[in-house]
Amino acid sequence: MRAYLPDYVLRAPRDLAEAVSLLAAEPGAWKPFAGGTDLMVLLEAGKLPHKKFLSLWRLAELRGIEITADAVTLGALTTYTQVLREPILQQEFPLLCQAARETGGVATQNRGTLAGNIANASPAADSPPALLVYDAELELISARASRRRPYHGFHSGYKQMDLAPDELIARIRLPRPFFGPRRPGPRHHYYRKVGTRKAQAISKVVFAGVAETENGAIRDIRLALGSVAPTVVRCVKTEDVLRGRRPDRETVAAAREALAEEISPIDDFRSTARYRLRVSQNLLEDFLLSLQ
Ligand SMILES: Cc1cc2nc3c(=O)[nH]c(=O)nc-3n(C[C@H](O)[C@H](O)[C@H](O)COP(=O)(O)OP(=O)(O)OC[C@H]3O[C@@H](n4cnc5c(N)ncnc54)[C@H](O)[C@@H]3O)c2cc1C
Repeated sequence: MRAYLPDYVLRAPRDLAEAVSLLAAEPGAWKPFAGGTDLMVLLEAGKLPHKKFLSLWRLAELRGIEITADAVTLGALTTYTQVLREPILQQEFPLLCQAARETGGVATQNRGTLAGNIANASPAADSPPALLVYDAELELISARASRRRPYHGFHSGYKQMDLAPDELIARIRLPRPFFGPRRPGPRHHYYRKVGTRKAQAISKVVFAGVAETENGAIRDIRLALGSVAPTVVRCVKTEDVLRGRRPDRETVAAAREALAEEISPIDDFRSTARYRLRVSQNLLEDFLLSLQ
């Protein structure tokens, strides 16, 4: 059922100060509208609970990619196409580029934004697992203050997150290098999206992993999955099992067991819990064996 357009209001503030003051004046009344690729689907279906929309598209403060010695910081409005065109992301954060490449088609990649993907809070979203393994931080802004928080833990339940009604995601910060001040050893990146089709499919399982090895053992590792819990998840218990071990068959068996404890996939119209668990374990195994 289509929405009746005259029922809706869209405001397009000229700068960020105007945007956050509108949000502050009526917290929860104005819904931020970035690329609109999620919101327009709801509009078309007549399922938009909000009537007032705040277009972020013209806000220069939410655009741009800043590169410093210790981080790459992406404006909230960074699109998938911009991610794909940025050489430093291809070199240092390739999983984010791979997620961008596998998100929708070209039209969605031109318009869809990273902050929109985060704030839409789908457990099946494709870029959040990559952001989690790269230890991303979010900069949130309101008329009251701006604050930084780790992306890990931002989603607290299905479609729930640590974002006040008067706050916007302003920037996404990716720290470099990945594993602290020490000179990193060989780094291994692994990303797999499993869907019904090769393209234009919502994930049944999405897996991201990054590991650093030293003398054949796993010095550090980060793992994150989508579509296997009410939120995208970082698998810290499985990571703990793996740190310091060689990626051999025994380690793989222990990791498969730990992962089964840590994720909670469900049956739904896209897949079954059993399939999702098995695929998650197989992808973990594939990643670990690739470290050999
Ligand atoms: C055909 C199609 C294919 C798709 N394929 C994929 C896919 O393969 N993988 C995938 O993960 N997603 C996919 N999507 C979903 C969508 O494209 C992404 O989630 C996209 O990143 C959303 O970004 P947006 O800027 O369009 O968000 P919008 O639709 O503008 O907003 C989405 C949500 O985020 C909020 N929001 C946006 N920006 C901010 C901000 N700065 N601060 C606070 N809240 C904000 C909005 O209020 C809204 O709740 C697809 C969508 C379509 C229509």
